Amino acid sequence: MKKRILFIGTGGTIASELSRGGLLPGVGPEQLLSYVPDVAELCEVECLQLYELDSTDIGPAHWLGMAGAIRENYGDFDGFVISHGTDTMAYTAAAMSYLVQGSPKPIILTGAQKPIGEDASDSRTNLRDSFRCAAARGMHGVCIVFNGRVILGTRARKTHTKSFDAFTSINYPNIADVRDGQLIRYITPYCQSEPRFYGRLNPNVALLKLIPGTRPELLEYMLRSSDALIIESFGVGGLPHGGGMHALVSAAAAAGKTVVMTTQVQNEGSDLAVYATGRPLSEDGGILEAYDMTTECAVAKLMWLLPLARTGEDIRRLFYTPVSLDILTDALH
Ligand code: ASP
Repeated sequence: MKKRILFIGTGGTIASELSRGGLLPGVGPEQLLSYVPDVAELCEVECLQLYELDSTDIGPAHWLGMAGAIRENYGDFDGFVISHGTDTMAYTAAAMSYLVQGSPKPIILTGAQKPIGEDASDSRTNLRDSFRCAAARGMHGVCIVFNGRVILGTRARKTHTKSFDAFTSINYPNIADVRDGQLIRYITPYCQSEPRFYGRLNPNVALLKLIPGTRPELLEYMLRSSDALIIESFGVGGLPHGGGMHALVSAAAAAGKTVVMTTQVQNEGSDLAVYATGRPLSEDGGILEAYDMTTECAVAKLMWLLPLARTGEDIRRLFYTPVSLDILTDALH
């Protein structure tokens, strides 16, 4: 029996055509599929056009829409392939990892750096590889399949704007590779017998990337106007001593604001306790630290957990409870 896969189209470069105003999505999932007729040998595919958007226009409401479409169709299919723009795909993969937890069926996100209508496009390979993964036995949960890599949804980041090699798995290995149409597995992701679906997000989460000389007024404004603020600081993490930033953050945390410290360095994560610029924050019971979690995950995890948490203690517990291997630091043990 061939596996039944639902192919959900959301737009992106893969589905784009040249218009006067630049590349614009306009190719539906049926048409995408017509470029890879050999997929029919791997699985039976049904198509659902959910959105037709550049992923720059995709946000939390669309993540809920995608999770809702999977929930509605979960019983009728063995796996899901979502075609999506690459620009925010890592955020969507993170969000889907929180909205659909422990799925025994694969939920694969893919896309391309070049539209499917172009001769030298990566679209066809990425689609074939994605359907191969979606139809394979033992593939579970949310991942991105791109340029021969299978990356856990909680570990992906777009690291190249133009090359086919667009995504990297951050602080965690690829869970599999696809080489010449063969799936080479390294890690089998954990799953439950039934997925747990969530249907709410709080989008009022903000991110402040520090630069040398960031004005404290900016920090003050962002703390005031968001329900949770992620601060991407330098290196293993810290805040400048001048300008009263430490006091601003500590006062906000003491007043119940959720503040997460992380790093703008891509690899190896934060460790606030190392330097005097960070240790007071790490010792402040009200401030959270992302450690090896990606910023994409920190954003999506906060949006997911804020509606579930009633107290600061709930927020801390949910933030530090690993979901689909999003946080693995030894510091939590
Ligand atoms: N701007 C496009 C998008 O994210 C880029 C892509 O798909 O590669 O929708």
